[in-house]
Amino acid sequence: MRAWRVHHPAPIHSDPLILERIPVPRPEAGEVLVRVLACGVCRTDLHVSEGDLPVHRPGVVPGHEIVGEVVEVGGEVTAHAVGDRVGIPWLRSSCGRCRVCRRGDENLCESSTYTGWDSDGGYAEFACAPAAFMLPLPDGYTDAELAPLLCAGIIGFRALRCAELPTGGALGIYGFGASAHLAAQVAMADGAQVHVMTRSVDARRLALELGAASVQGATDPPPVPLDAAILFAPVGDLVPPALEALDAGATLSIAGIHLSDVPPLNYQRHLFRERRIRSVTANTRADARDFLDIAARHRLQVTATPHPLDRALETLQGLADDRVTGAAVLIP
Ligand SMILES: [Zn+2]
Ligand SMILES: [Zn+2]
Repeated sequence: MRAWRVHHPAPIHSDPLILERIPVPRPEAGEVLVRVLACGVCRTDLHVSEGDLPVHRPGVVPGHEIVGEVVEVGGEVTAHAVGDRVGIPWLRSSCGRCRVCRRGDENLCESSTYTGWDSDGGYAEFACAPAAFMLPLPDGYTDAELAPLLCAGIIGFRALRCAELPTGGALGIYGFGASAHLAAQVAMADGAQVHVMTRSVDARRLALELGAASVQGATDPPPVPLDAAILFAPVGDLVPPALEALDAGATLSIAGIHLSDVPPLNYQRHLFRERRIRSVTANTRADARDFLDIAARHRLQVTATPHPLDRALETLQGLADDRVTGAAVLIP
């Protein structure tokens, strides 16, 4: 099969991904093999390719927003059958036994593994994953629209949960890519007023089309104090202006897996009056199921641009250069 592999992480414009022919993987016990119908392109794939995340599997195939059709099931798999359409997300496994797993925080499990980082992902024609971590897909979406729901959508939803936005409150969103444009719609469906801060003119236009209450530059103050905010851009320099825009007692959640350094904070200007800052680390299966349930009941507008699998490298380079509006999706 054709698959893109990262042998030596390096800046994306030095072409660290190589398209190769490798054998189709075989499902082990508890696993399922899918033919990849679509795979979303996520900023985390860029972090894997460039080495912002340490190498977990040399020569890894990136990609963790996989919409697939089951073509083979391994032993002990009863929940899926050949022909089923399933989603393979970022969280590939957790131990299920440790202290955090037992209290329901499997996203924090020290032994958790991730698709397209610890194991080969969906920048390929076929992929294997444990059946227990596959997700059911909502009806009413194309394959290209479903793919970004599987990481961008789920992580955005968890970040929104972590931001603890009060009902009908003002939500600030910093950076407006694939994840943000979905989280904004979930928040607005729940009555929130969404204010978007981004340097991208195209993203500002998309935010207004989706119903944002206001749009402004990345560091500009929003028109009202924010009841909650989410930082989607991987830019630590945006933390101080985002904290300054919060109302007393409000939370800033940081959605990315990687953030450039945060500049020094001033306690009075940025934190006092019980403003909070928290990171978001992956997601649980419960987050995924709850989000996909919302997507089934409330048709989200997914801005997804399909690209052929052969153009994965150029697509990631476009993401690095901020030339992607909404979500890019690879179609083998
Ligand atoms: Zn665990
Ligand atoms: Zn992702």
